[in-house]
Amino acid sequence: MRLGVAAALVEGQVVPGDVEVEGGVVAAVGASPAGRAGLAVPGLIDVQVNGLAGVDFLTADAAGYQRARQAMAAAGVTAFLPTLVTSPADVCKAALQQVGLAQHAPGPRVLGAHLEGPFLSPSFKGAHDERWLRLPDTAAADELCDAGPVALMTVAPELAGGMDLVRHLVERGVVVSLGHTDADAAQAHAAYDAGARAVTHLFNAQRRFTARDPGVSGVALTRADVSVSLIADFVHLAPETVLAAWLAARHRLVLVTDAVSAAGQPPGAYPLGSREVVVDGHSARLADGTLAGSVLSLDQAVRNLASLGVPLADAVHAATAAPAALLRWPDLGTLHPGAPADMAVLDDGLEVVRTLVGGAEAFAAS
Ligand code: ZN
Repeated sequence: MRLGVAAALVEGQVVPGDVEVEGGVVAAVGASPAGRAGLAVPGLIDVQVNGLAGVDFLTADAAGYQRARQAMAAAGVTAFLPTLVTSPADVCKAALQQVGLAQHAPGPRVLGAHLEGPFLSPSFKGAHDERWLRLPDTAAADELCDAGPVALMTVAPELAGGMDLVRHLVERGVVVSLGHTDADAAQAHAAYDAGARAVTHLFNAQRRFTARDPGVSGVALTRADVSVSLIADFVHLAPETVLAAWLAARHRLVLVTDAVSAAGQPPGAYPLGSREVVVDGHSARLADGTLAGSVLSLDQAVRNLASLGVPLADAVHAATAAPAALLRWPDLGTLHPGAPADMAVLDDGLEVVRTLVGGAEAFAAS
């Protein structure tokens, strides 16, 4: 099957010509004749998404996952980590079981869960419900990880037992990200030396970056072994902050949405775990004004990054190869002969017009 595109973004280079798909993998790029329009890019990967399209992954059933997947595919997303906010252990375990079931359904791939909590700092809880936060506890972490496929966990390493937890999770094969944390630079370095590999939503819900106290964000931006995830909605971060982060992190920058169920929905009140968030079309906030996730889509995040003058290939990298590298899925987030045919087709305005997962059509603009 030919995609009918004019060009493809192949390992960071625009290669004119069509893309051929066979047996669920990319068979050829640069095929002649080229289509009239459209740029094929690797499918986008979102490592932090609480929900969207009216679906909250904390309570979603199979039908909810299906609705969420359709909305993801419309944004060019071909793989994601359903992200679970801090919640009672039984609620979290039930949601993790659903994540496990969702891994077997068609559409954008569920690569595992991102557990954001419960081992977070009460000082930087953000929109997390303080009642369910707890101190790091490897046995409690094991119970959660045994309940379903946990791919990534956000933790605050400075809490009592935090470093033990980081080491324990790394040993278990869980990717550790530091977030909702008061860690200073020394504590952040120690956690990264112990195997943590990312910072969760840079500059948000963490010790503030100042001249002599750079905190986890300053450390993450300067370490070559750390991925820097951020929410490029221009609400959580000013455009200049996003650009500064990209200039520092480059290929380590990971775009995430941190979207909540209200993403893609009309303004109103929507659930986020046990809380209610009010959405105005640009942001999602608790009643007291605290930002509670976003209403961002990942394709919009790519367009936002590109709007700052970041080359398109690099903006796409931040939503494809960079998250794939963090999750240690080197086959995903890349487009070349032999790779899985997980792709999005963009028009001249970088809008998604078509999405394929494993060569199967997951979205086509009408
Ligand atoms: Zn958060």
